[in-house]
Order: sequence, then C-alpha cells, then structure tokens
Amino acid sequence: MTTFNDFGLHADINRALAAKDYTVPTPIQMQAIPPLMKGRDLCGIAQTGTGKTAGFSLPSIHHLLTYPHRPTPRGCRMLVLAPTRELAAQIAQSCRDYGRFTKLSVSTVFGGVPINKQIRDLSGGVDILVATPGRLLDLIDQRALRLDDVEIFVLDEADQMMDMGFIHSLRRVAKLLPSRRQNLFFSATMPKEIAHLAEQFLNDPVTVSVTPQATTVEKIRQFATFVEQKEKQALLHSVVATQDIDRALIFTRTKHGADRVVRHLAGAGIKAMAIHGNKSQSQRTHALQAFRSGDIKLLVATDIAARGIDVSGVSHVINFEIPNVPEQYVHRIGRTARAGAEGMAISFIAPDERPYMKDIERVTRSKSEPMPLPENFNELVRNLPKPVAGPRDTGSQGRDPSRQRQDANRGRNSGKPQGERGPRRDGVAGEGAEGQRKRRFRPRNKSVGAHKGAVTRVG
Ligand code: AMP
Repeated sequence: MTTFNDFGLHADINRALAAKDYTVPTPIQMQAIPPLMKGRDLCGIAQTGTGKTAGFSLPSIHHLLTYPHRPTPRGCRMLVLAPTRELAAQIAQSCRDYGRFTKLSVSTVFGGVPINKQIRDLSGGVDILVATPGRLLDLIDQRALRLDDVEIFVLDEADQMMDMGFIHSLRRVAKLLPSRRQNLFFSATMPKEIAHLAEQFLNDPVTVSVTPQATTVEKIRQFATFVEQKEKQALLHSVVATQDIDRALIFTRTKHGADRVVRHLAGAGIKAMAIHGNKSQSQRTHALQAFRSGDIKLLVATDIAARGIDVSGVSHVINFEIPNVPEQYVHRIGRTARAGAEGMAISFIAPDERPYMKDIERVTRSKSEPMPLPENFNELVRNLPKPVAGPRDTGSQGRDPSRQRQDANRGRNSGKPQGERGPRRDGVAGEGAEGQRKRRFRPRNKSVGAHKGAVTRVG
C-alpha cells in the first residue's frame, strides 16, 4: 500500500503529516502528488472532501522548500485562487498545517475585510498566497501585489468560479502570470466551457479524476418527503425534534429563504444561524465557528455559501428546497458522510420540485426512500409557532446595510456587520435566487460523467 513516506516529500512535511495522523493518501493524492513532484501541470476533476487540498499543497510546499529563496517584495511564490472566502480561509489553514514545521509564510486575501492589513501583509512578499479573484485584482490595481514571480498557480473549484461570473477576472489574472510556472487546475465538473478554460491555463497537463459522486451518494441514506411548500417549516420542526441530529446543514435556494427558516426555528426556541451572501464576513465566520464548536446544531445555508465548507460531524443534510441543478444536490449531500462516516439526507419536495428530484435521481443513479409525513402533521401545521420578527421580505436582494443588520441572527451574532462592500466581486456574488433563476432546468438522461451543460454562467 502506498503511504505518504513513499512520495519522497520534504522531511518537514512528513513531520506535519504525522502530526495530523495522515498515513494513507486519498485517491486524488495518490494520483496527483507524483506528477506534481516532477513539476507537471495538472488538471484535477475532484470536489472538496476528496483530500485535493493536500493533493496540491503538499507537492507545492515540497517545491518551495526544495528551491528556497525569499519571495520578492509584494510578490508571492505560490498563488491559489478559490471562489469563496470560506474556501480560501480553509485552504490557507491547510497550508499552514502542512507547513507548520517550516518557515514558509502563508497569507489569505479576500473581500469583506479591510484591505490595508492585507496590503501590509503582502509588502514584504509571501511564499503562499490564497485569494479570491476580486480582492486579488483590487490589490494588483493598488500596486500592492504583483504576480510576475509566481512559480506555482492553483485554480481551485473552477466550475464554481465560472458560476459566480469570475471568468473575466481569471482571464486578467492569467495575463499577469509569468509564462514559466507550474499550473494546477481543479474542478468538480468538467463541462465544455471549463475544459476550454483549463486549456488556457495548462501546459501538457496530467489529468486525474476522482469521482466521489457515486461513492458519496452510496454512503448517504437519502430520504424524501412530499410536502406542500407552505408546510415545510412545520416539517422541519418535526424532523429537528425527532431525528438524532449531531449537526445538520439545512439548504435553501435563496438568502431570504435561509433567513426565514432561521426565524421560524427561533420562533420555536430552536437555535440556528444562517450563512449566505448577505451576511457580513464576521457574521459568517461567527456562524461557522458556532457550528463547528457545536454551539449551534443547525446551520441554514445557500448553496454557494456552503460550498467548500469542511465541517466534520455533519450527521444530516436537509434539503429544505430542492436544487434545480443535480450537481448542486451532490455537493450538498456531500457535506455529510465525510471520512467514512454515515450521513443522512432528507429532501422536502413540494409538488413543483418533483421534476428536479427525478432529474437528481437519474443523475446520481440513486433513489431516495420515502419518509412519510408525521402522523400528527396537520396538528403541527396548525400549531406552528410564529417566526420571530425579521426584515420585511420584499424579495429584493437586501443590500441596504441597515436591513442586513436586522438579520435573523440578531442578538446571537457578536460580530458587527462590516460596512458592506459595494458591488460584490468576491465570495458570494450571483448566488441564490439570481444564480438559480439564470440556470435553465434541462432534463438529462446521461450518466454523471456525461452530465454536461449543468454549469451555466451567472453574472
Ligand atoms: P479536502 O478535500 O482537501 O478539503 O480534504 C477533506 C478533508 O480530509 C480535510 O478535513 C482533510 O484534513 C482530510 N484529509 C485530507 N487528506 C487526508 C488523508 N490522507 N488522510 C486523512 N485525512 C485527510
């Protein structure tokens, strides 16, 4: 059996891996690390949860240690681009963990936090920079960052980047990179437009692919309940009361929908927080921390905000609303059953969502077991506690910070909302209702691998 010791990684990296108790590489690590150690470009088809972060960061750290030199002022030796702040923070943390016995510096830059500290952090140059595209370009425009000394460039979750409308930012970044560099490109899916983007970045790449979809789905017990849209809150209360939940991620399609769910739960005295693009950075960090620490068991999220979040011990994923893009379902339920654990996914299906569920079942080649409504359901619906007061739901995007301050987690979030950031170029642009509406629902009858056209551009 291959172990990490077989790769010939720098001793300081092996020490860090031992400290983390990693012994056996995951399939993506097994496939990606050897060619990356040889300096090859790589196109990886893999999603979060497969171990791809170590897959790309271990050989990169090995390179930085093998060819040691100081980064140039305002420069970086390795650049990782990620679509969301949460994912960027997570990647940076992984790099810090794997490089903890080295002197390599790791910085993260993303929007929603003051730029001045980031400018200061970059002034002397850094070894590893993890960034979201919008803030990266802001820093370049302010001459606080230059990319002409980048030795390793990693583009993570390329399909998500396209979904969020970052294509023009990526093209700009590509022009600023030096021609001699190693490129790593990761995407969970590889429809034609992503493959075309990959071609623009990669030079004679090795392609590795792990398809966790089928295996992930297999490990998860999937249930479906048919319920009227307006009765979903009552069903959620019942599920929360009757299921043995350690941690549950509850998915809604829109940001306002997420807030409404939190307010309804709060009305029944059930603690929950929401994470989505209208939340300030500090609110999102606070909600994630509370969820990680077990302070709250229920986190209500929109798809884009939840993407890439790696929280262990998620026992349940509840699809309060069904995504109209099957991959989104796979991403959602992949938040549970991590690292061999069993997980449960429960989908609340309103009559108009049935075709979406059919499409999901066809793509995942799996079928959810029916979970009947509870016997006393009519009574539960009649006696549903009133939601706590919240912002008026006008269906607008709620950019007005004064409205944002009234969010459903009021009183729980210790973090003050940061002044909002004007047009959003980072993190969670184009999410929720806008993003979903721009996608067309197309029934497909091909397998997961042939599932093209699911990713359409937003923004
Ligand atoms: P990633 O897909 O990179 O986000 O990794 C998913 C999770 O798996 C993270 O919590 C990693 O710390 C963990 N992980 C990655 N590689 C290994 C490994 N070889 N052995 C055990 N855990 C791992």
